[in-house]
Amino acid sequence: MKLLSLKMWRRAMSLLAFLFGLTVLYLIYLAWSIVPGGTKPQTAGGLVAKDPRSVLAVIALAGELLAGLGLFGTRLAYFAYEKVTGLRHPKPVTKSLVLSFRRCPICNDNVPFGSLGRGFRGHLRSEHPDYWRSSMRWSVAMGAVFVGWLIGFFPLLVLVIVPASRTGEAAIMLYGFVGYFGIGFTVTILGAWSGRARRRRFREEWQEQHPLHERTYGNLKGIPAKLRVRTGVPVDVATLPLRLLHPVLLLLEPIVLLFARFSMRKVTLDKFEEGRLWFYDRFGTFTSFEIKNLLPEQSSAERIVLELKKGSLEIRAENSSDLETVRNVLSTAIIKTPA
Ligand SMILES: [Zn+2]
Repeated sequence: MKLLSLKMWRRAMSLLAFLFGLTVLYLIYLAWSIVPGGTKPQTAGGLVAKDPRSVLAVIALAGELLAGLGLFGTRLAYFAYEKVTGLRHPKPVTKSLVLSFRRCPICNDNVPFGSLGRGFRGHLRSEHPDYWRSSMRWSVAMGAVFVGWLIGFFPLLVLVIVPASRTGEAAIMLYGFVGYFGIGFTVTILGAWSGRARRRRFREEWQEQHPLHERTYGNLKGIPAKLRVRTGVPVDVATLPLRLLHPVLLLLEPIVLLFARFSMRKVTLDKFEEGRLWFYDRFGTFTSFEIKNLLPEQSSAERIVLELKKGSLEIRAENSSDLETVRNVLSTAIIKTPA
């Protein structure tokens, strides 16, 4: 069953996505190179359609989409199979060593995330059952829409793209493709927006039922700061082109990567306890770094540099008195408990 592990599945899926992106790029390149400049759109489509290479590329595109659907189905079937066997032979829940917490979107509580979010889902299921049920319905609906969108590619191909390519109506082909991806994009935006609105509605409901409670902070008092990790997770050079060509992330991921690498992460510091620096990241996830030591020779008036197990961590704060507070807490704590 190792062949069906999530990792392998993800690899296969991103390979397919990469091939898909490559084929689309190849088609664009073909259209570019076959059609001489100044050709009428009607004849241009005919030229592309006549070229056996573009026919092959369209067949490959359809094949890749089918394979993607197949993979998706396999994963779904495997998940169902695991669910059934899991019910028959329940395994003891293994605790992950590094605890990561996530802020509950409804009650603001810190919830242990658990393996693959199990703890987090458990909290939602037991504490906010109405929200949980509505989330499940929403996810199923979004999944169905997504599968419908994928399947919709075939009628588009058969009814619009292929006839248009035979008669050489390049404009119709273009509108077909643009319309198809436009629908996908719109649905994604609408889905994200409706999910947000739903979450806000439940949160407001919960806040009405419960008196407002503020997040309480530890010895670092909720100081807003910026963190930068040096030589943290290296960029995986082997899979980078794969990931960059993923159709969904084609535009998004380079930007995300860029910001993650070259800008400092805004966080809210919570506490330093037992050698760990705890903070809330931008997404409200409560998480920590294991600190080995202070690096005073690299620190300055504007920043504190800490030694991690691998690499270092730089902390900056908006104002200098906040940074001094952090420096005091860290230096006393680290001197008290030498590693
Ligand atoms: Zn909650």
